[in-house]
Amino acid sequence: MMKLKIVFLITLILSFSVSATTQVKGLRVWTSPEDTKAVIDLSGQVDYKLFQLENPPRIVVDIENAKVARKFSVKNNSVIRKIRNGRKGKTTLRLVFDLRSKQKAKSFLLKPAKQYGHRLVIQLSKPKVKTKTIVQKHQNKDRDVIIAVDAGHGGEDPGASGVSGTREKTITLQIAKRLADSINKEKGMKAVLIRKGDYYVALRKRFKKARENRADLFVSIHADAFRDPKVHGMSVYILSKKGATSEAAKWLAQSENNSDLVGGVVLEDKDNVLAKVLLDLSQNASMEASHKAAKKVLSALKLIEKPHKKNVERASFVVLKSPDVPSMLIETAYISNPKEEKRLKTKKFQQKLAGSIKDGIKQYFYQSPPPNTWIANHITTEKHTVSSGETLGAIAQSYKVSMRELMRLNNKVSNNIRVGEVLILPKIIP
Ligand SMILES: [Zn+2]
Repeated sequence: MMKLKIVFLITLILSFSVSATTQVKGLRVWTSPEDTKAVIDLSGQVDYKLFQLENPPRIVVDIENAKVARKFSVKNNSVIRKIRNGRKGKTTLRLVFDLRSKQKAKSFLLKPAKQYGHRLVIQLSKPKVKTKTIVQKHQNKDRDVIIAVDAGHGGEDPGASGVSGTREKTITLQIAKRLADSINKEKGMKAVLIRKGDYYVALRKRFKKARENRADLFVSIHADAFRDPKVHGMSVYILSKKGATSEAAKWLAQSENNSDLVGGVVLEDKDNVLAKVLLDLSQNASMEASHKAAKKVLSALKLIEKPHKKNVERASFVVLKSPDVPSMLIETAYISNPKEEKRLKTKKFQQKLAGSIKDGIKQYFYQSPPPNTWIANHITTEKHTVSSGETLGAIAQSYKVSMRELMRLNNKVSNNIRVGEVLILPKIIP
């Protein structure tokens, strides 16, 4: 009895504290493969109630002292069929979400942040059927190398914006998709997209997804802004030593991570000292590999664009913190530079970027293939020093590769060669 009274009292206080009418200003729906989020923009804090009804499945949200200026609609959504709004009593606004199937609903309020004000978020997900995640092991001998391609930002997080309104999240997804296509055309290489649509994926979840997919490389695509609109050019980042050290501490402290395999070993059953040594080894190996791969990608990109920084940069970005997946983040250009913004939107430039990034990745894997992969088993690279009288065409022919392939593997924009130049030549072993 006592408890009930207290709850009642608290509710009463809460509703007194928010008395002015709140405006419901907007509603956005983001659907990812895992969940659907409806984000409701509010002019201030609210008290609300959420409950679910069945037959047909729907979710009702009653917001006290609230008004809405217009009707909300949702188009072609796989989860929400329709959104209706009405009133319950004099002061309560009722929003009804008609669902296509039964969903588990969670809700929470968000305080103002960045370009957003107060928000009420309703998260819908499929009721969980407990399944054991099947860890795909790389057992087959000629497996593909797996490249996780991460399009930066998404959904509620638009990233940077250009002067003409281009959003970073849109550009990154377009480039990521082109990069994935370009990778998937290569024998022995397979791309996995971390996000496939306009929704947000939490930063740690991004590299977790890469690890779940047993990725051999993680590449995050961005196009950020800078306060000076004249700043331009691309940069390639890998994790800083400081970022790696703080992440190691975190992994060792969080026992939930320790049952995972890190670099192929379980840390859970090891004592702290040994676990730390193993984790360090894995991180060091990953960072070395990240640097090697990033250098290749940077030199391939230099052919199409002047770099902002001419060396691989180091920073403590969260998405780069996998302890055992070599990772890099590419700032493809500055969306804050009007010229670059314009170019970033074009298919031609996006394709060029994707092609060059893929070339860099391919050069890396051709020279440092993980064991048991098709590339490791079927490709060897040889160094060929050009002697006088040789042509690129003749060299290509003698190694049974196309001129185009030869040029791409050596970051060449023309077929001019000079005596003494060293070329990387792939040899396919049947
Ligand atoms: Zn970004």
